[in-house]
Amino acid sequence: MSTKDYLEKDYYKTLGVTKGASADDIKKSYRKLARKYHPDANEGDAKAEARFKEISEAYTVLSDEGRRKEYDEARSLFGGGVRMPGSGTGGGYNFDLGDLFGGAGGAGGRLGDLLGGVFGSRSGGTTGTRARPRRGADVETETTLSFSDAVNGATVSLRLTGEGPCQVCKGTGAKAGTVPRVCPTCEGTGQGSRNLGSFAFSEPCRTCRGRGLVVDDPCPTCSGSGRAMSTRTVQARIPAGVDDGQRIKLAGKGARGENGGPPGDLYVRVHVQPHPHGTFGRSAANLTITVPVTFSEAALGAEVKVPSLGGMPVSLRIPAGTPSGRTFRVRGKGVRRKDGTMGDLLVTVNVQVPATLTDKARTALEQFRDATAGGDPRADLLRDANS
Ligand SMILES: [Zn+2]
Ligand SMILES: [Zn+2]
Repeated sequence: MSTKDYLEKDYYKTLGVTKGASADDIKKSYRKLARKYHPDANEGDAKAEARFKEISEAYTVLSDEGRRKEYDEARSLFGGGVRMPGSGTGGGYNFDLGDLFGGAGGAGGRLGDLLGGVFGSRSGGTTGTRARPRRGADVETETTLSFSDAVNGATVSLRLTGEGPCQVCKGTGAKAGTVPRVCPTCEGTGQGSRNLGSFAFSEPCRTCRGRGLVVDDPCPTCSGSGRAMSTRTVQARIPAGVDDGQRIKLAGKGARGENGGPPGDLYVRVHVQPHPHGTFGRSAANLTITVPVTFSEAALGAEVKVPSLGGMPVSLRIPAGTPSGRTFRVRGKGVRRKDGTMGDLLVTVNVQVPATLTDKARTALEQFRDATAGGDPRADLLRDANS
């Protein structure tokens, strides 16, 4: 039973008695209800079983004079009507008991200590707010992918360094071969108390600093704190089509939660290496490539083979009269987008000028020159420059 249980649950109502009921009335009512809802008498009835548990819980508190008093005090403090988060009904309240009462110092801290004292002492399982489930931290890391892995997606191993339970002592803080022992001052509750007139204020036990345990021989690795930096490796699937500089979120791959809390998320900043020979480039979901074509292919038109990334070469029809630098689009041969559609391959042609000529080629070119004589390609330029 926790602070939350005390504030949420009306044990009197559960047992069908009034707030002023005598111990005898409570016992009688409990026995009647317990017989009625006992699992032996209601085999396989989950509802009856849940009811039986509620009744038992209510009786555990109300049959104990001290705990009944604590329960009454807690509910009068909050009017008994506070709905706490996480009650399973999807209630609209969104405040956190731990943050409200667990903060160190200030009024919140004192209230937290007070509540911790009221509820922590005999409840067994949860001591105040310390054992509250805590979501693991979000973790940031980086990875570098090859050009192809970024296009196709890849599974990468990521080494993550973060604080967690010390591996050597398994988080106990005690040296190997020893175990922590229950704090003799607070008997394991973690709470000490201070009397201020009619109020008994609770505060974290000074001997164990609220931990409830004391360590005689501290673990040398973590100096007894039970916490240490550790490195772990996670396998992460980077989706196809990731771009340089992009940040990928991997839900639930961050730091482990504590006390049964969910893990945090992992954010991976991705760096993408250029293509090995600079063959391919990226422009969002499009791949780019520059291909050389001969003067005659560009002038006469041709069907040329163009490489595609990780696949068979594709055929590209170059029309007659294609100038150097023109870009053609080959649909669907680019990078897969988030929505599953494919980008394109953008092919830019680069007309090559032969560096050396055979006699036959020279003769042919000279004939070509003579055949096209008369047209000066710079005529417009020269005229415009002087007008
Ligand atoms: Zn340790
Ligand atoms: Zn202690």
